[in-house]
Amino acid sequence: MTDNLTTTAGKVRDWAHDLGFQAVGITHTELDDAGNRLNQWLNQDLNADLEYMAAHGSKRYRPDELVPGTQRIIAVRLDYRPEPDDPETVLADDEKAYITRYSLGRDYHKLMRKRLAKLAKWIDEALPGYYHRPFVDSAPVLEKPIAVKAGLGWQGKHTLVLHPQAGSWFFLGEIYTSAPLPVDEPWTTDHCGSCTACLDVCPTNAFPEPYVLDAGRCISYLTIENNGPIPEELRPLMGNRVFGCDDCQLVCPFNKFSDSTEEPDFQPRHGLDNSTLAELFLWDEETFLKRTEGSAIRRAGYEGWLRNLAVGLGNAPSTIPVIEALKARRDYPTELVREHVQWALRRHGSTQV
Ligand code: SF4
Ligand code: SF4
Repeated sequence: MTDNLTTTAGKVRDWAHDLGFQAVGITHTELDDAGNRLNQWLNQDLNADLEYMAAHGSKRYRPDELVPGTQRIIAVRLDYRPEPDDPETVLADDEKAYITRYSLGRDYHKLMRKRLAKLAKWIDEALPGYYHRPFVDSAPVLEKPIAVKAGLGWQGKHTLVLHPQAGSWFFLGEIYTSAPLPVDEPWTTDHCGSCTACLDVCPTNAFPEPYVLDAGRCISYLTIENNGPIPEELRPLMGNRVFGCDDCQLVCPFNKFSDSTEEPDFQPRHGLDNSTLAELFLWDEETFLKRTEGSAIRRAGYEGWLRNLAVGLGNAPSTIPVIEALKARRDYPTELVREHVQWALRRHGSTQV
């Protein structure tokens, strides 16, 4: 049986590559150190209202409590940076809308889940009698520390997993398995050294210290997970970042030479990598739903989308298209959008709000 486990572990590597994953590693389930760091972070109230991070208690760092019998975790990496890509030019143009690289194309969850399910099925055929359960953001899984333990990279000062050649533009997925497969060496070195580029560049100062993120100040959280108003003091700092933010990745030296994705699904759709704030703000709900079908942008909802774009427009230069777009939504029926539009108009010196 041990031979079969070793042979299958070797095959998992080939199968993962055949399925388009760029890296794979196998680790055991001992995650108590990561659990302690998570609890410390929660105790400091740095999770904003990401209540799901606290909701599952120790299940998040004790895989055996989430899926009884789990002995190993298989972690995979899927690169997503599109090509060609010119994020800096969009960020520098105050009238353009910056959207995080990972949501310019199709939502990755479905693609990743399908491939992990296939990988789990192949493992099951090779190792009957065990279970193999795939996860992609769908359950309380500590995916970053798991990736480090599985040898996929280290957690950089910006808290994302990094690899010296691959950088950090990738998604992570996991399979929990009851099969006691041989494990890979964990990643034990931190290559950040004295670099602080990601901490220094963060527009909203979301890192109270290296390796610690204050979610409530991070633009990714504010524009995607947050359902309520965006704190007024943070709005001017957000610039034109209307769905997520990549500044801490863009500045990272390890991302300068990272590979782009070969997945057609991750290429930008509907010109979302180069649109103006005003044109996106004027999409009606039907257009929004049509153009974000199968996209992670749907997560913000139409109101969240308008709220975020209103902030971007408030930070844009006072041009006619910017002011006209805002005025067109001045009487929007919901308070959330209306209040952000009024804030934006005030930024442009409009008193008739
Ligand atoms: S994503 Fe943006 S706002 Fe969030 S920590 Fe990174 S640089 Fe800061
Ligand atoms: S920017 Fe520098 S400190 Fe931040 S993750 Fe990259 S190497 Fe580490």
